Amino acid sequence: LVVLGIETSCDDTAASVVRSNGEILSQVVSSQADLLAQYGGVAPKMAEEAHLRVIDQVVQEALDKANLTEKDLSAVAVTIGPGLSLCLRVGVRKARKIAGSFNLPIIGVHHMEAHALVARLIERELQFPFMALLISGGHNLLILASDLGQYIQLGTTIDDAIGEAYDKTAKWLGLDMRRSGGPAVEELAREGDAESVKFSIPMKQYKDCNFSYAGLKTQVRLAIESRNINAGIPISSASCQDRSSRADIAASFQRVAVLHLEERCERAIEWALKLEPSIKYLVVSGGVASNQYVRARLDQVVQKNNLQLVCPPPSLCTDNGVMVAWTGIEHFRMGRFDPPPSASEPEDSLYDLRPRWPLGEEYAEGRSEAR
Ligand code: ATP
Ligand code: FE
Repeated sequence: LVVLGIETSCDDTAASVVRSNGEILSQVVSSQADLLAQYGGVAPKMAEEAHLRVIDQVVQEALDKANLTEKDLSAVAVTIGPGLSLCLRVGVRKARKIAGSFNLPIIGVHHMEAHALVARLIERELQFPFMALLISGGHNLLILASDLGQYIQLGTTIDDAIGEAYDKTAKWLGLDMRRSGGPAVEELAREGDAESVKFSIPMKQYKDCNFSYAGLKTQVRLAIESRNINAGIPISSASCQDRSSRADIAASFQRVAVLHLEERCERAIEWALKLEPSIKYLVVSGGVASNQYVRARLDQVVQKNNLQLVCPPPSLCTDNGVMVAWTGIEHFRMGRFDPPPSASEPEDSLYDLRPRWPLGEEYAEGRSEAR
């Protein structure tokens, strides 16, 4: 099997061709980070236009680099949710056009499932059941993956995701946002003293596996205000003293943001092992999982519990087409796909888009265990 994967759910336009033996034949990403830095966030209409400008080129490049044409494909996989519907639509329209013209089956992919399953492409030993912590710009999920397509949600965020907190922290600290905020905070944090600012760990009193990052965000903003940091000035022009205060905030923020993850993972492992005692792996994926500090800390938690950590390489943690193609392959193998669309399908069809699409059932017992 050779599958083309297309991803346009948020601000990256990505396409990739993957073989069912796990060979990545191509991987192309066009990022809107420059635009985002200029406007300070994702504006759906603008993001849609950016996807429209590059989608044909990104897909063509993915095919060219794989040395293939559409005729060589077995199927097309595309993210249908969750995400911004204007953006999802661009990828779905492109995927259906190719599938319709070349008579190919099509697989609609869940973006967060793809973040998790790409770990199975990296680690061939990774069998179901396993656990996954998915940490990105819009999601914070703790999942028990019992089987393909069978997920139990052990925890989710009640407000912001950790990636959002990294991005705001970067913005308020005046960091260079051209590559998204996370990597900039991680880099600056290496210079700082992580014990210097006393942030409190979110939701300590709640004995569940849910997350909250809105309060920590506010704590960071207040710390910046109380230290007279002039966040309007980019860090490149800040004084030495000012730079070191910013680094202290970055390091302290990162420490507490990750302590929150560690604590929730500890509890989730306990819960999950009760349900599925044979679990051996915790997958950590999504953009924030490319952070070295996050990986190192979670590796300790996992080892302490006699499990193994699987963390895809950074280029497969942030949004990419490989994870979509691979998830398509996994479902295709199980016979889960849609027949080729009609070649004459109008461009303004109502596609099956799922902007809000939960991944699996909520773990009901979680609420009673939390008491
Ligand atoms: P979602 O997957 O929830 O729909 P998304 O697709 O926008 O969100 P991803 O590309 O999966 O997000 O992840 C992007 C997020 O990851 C951003 O918030 C970014 O700041 C964060 N991120 C990327 N690299 C790092 C890093 N090294 N440290 C911390 N955060 C990071
Ligand atoms: Fe993502």
